[in-house]
Amino acid sequence: MTLRDKVALVTGSTSGIGLGVARALATEGVHLMLNGFGDADEIEKIRGGLASEFSVTVRYDGADLMRPEQVKAIVKKTQVELGSLDILVNNAGIQFVAPIEEFPEAKWDAILALNLSAVFHGMKAAIPQMKAKRWGRIINIASAHGLVASPNKVAYVAAKHGVVGATKVAGIELANDGVTVNAICPGWVLTPLVEQQLEERASQSGTDVATETKGLLEEKQPMLKFTSPESIGAMVVFLCSDAAQTITGAALSIDGGWVAQ
Ligand code: NAD
Repeated sequence: MTLRDKVALVTGSTSGIGLGVARALATEGVHLMLNGFGDADEIEKIRGGLASEFSVTVRYDGADLMRPEQVKAIVKKTQVELGSLDILVNNAGIQFVAPIEEFPEAKWDAILALNLSAVFHGMKAAIPQMKAKRWGRIINIASAHGLVASPNKVAYVAAKHGVVGATKVAGIELANDGVTVNAICPGWVLTPLVEQQLEERASQSGTDVATETKGLLEEKQPMLKFTSPESIGAMVVFLCSDAAQTITGAALSIDGGWVAQ
């Protein structure tokens, strides 16, 4: 079985992990709907670059996935403009770090809306066509924080645990419909989301980003290195393959041993 000419929507694919996943799928001949924020010229360069390098159709839609109607609209747009939606990668996510008693309520609402509710709305919108075609892959990018907690990340940890739970429910519901649903739980991946945390830590501690990078890895991971977006892309491709057809409802770690402790 080949993935050539399947169609994927990868949310939050203008940067970081989502971009790595989009690239890995394009390499397999998958047509893409990209999504996420950023500089319009930069995004167009990414879109055009993937299309010409891998000879696939690549579209972009800047839907704000905190808004349920925009989640539904981008799923529909993918199905109409690219002819199908076979692979849904719910990846877009944000972070905010503060203790609970100082955690802004608006940040809680925003993180829950994007990191958790958008996953629900995306799955709900995509499932009917996948079921009808008797083939589909839904891959939710959760986190090590979907399995264990850290202080100061109440909204993120709650949302990611929710993603793991919703993945299990969807996996069970679709078990005999040809559709698998899994969560990937990365440890540290050096993307803008983590770079921002490193800069905040450096300014709070009066050290520098290199020192904080070492500290960040040592705090959580027995293996003192970052996972790459390319490795997560390869894991998504594997989950889309025939070999992975009985993997469903799983939360798969790629975290340098973080949750093994
Ligand atoms: P990133 O900041 O590089 O990318 C996030 C993407 O989401 C960007 O494309 C951004 O434009 C998009 N986005 C932000 N708000 C959006 C909105 N309202 N609507 C649509 N798109 C929006 O971050 P990343 O590290 O690549 O994170 C991707 C996913 O991986 C997130 O769900 C994150 O929680 C998860 N994750 C990251 C790490 C890590 O160490 N970086 C670890 C575990 C899990």
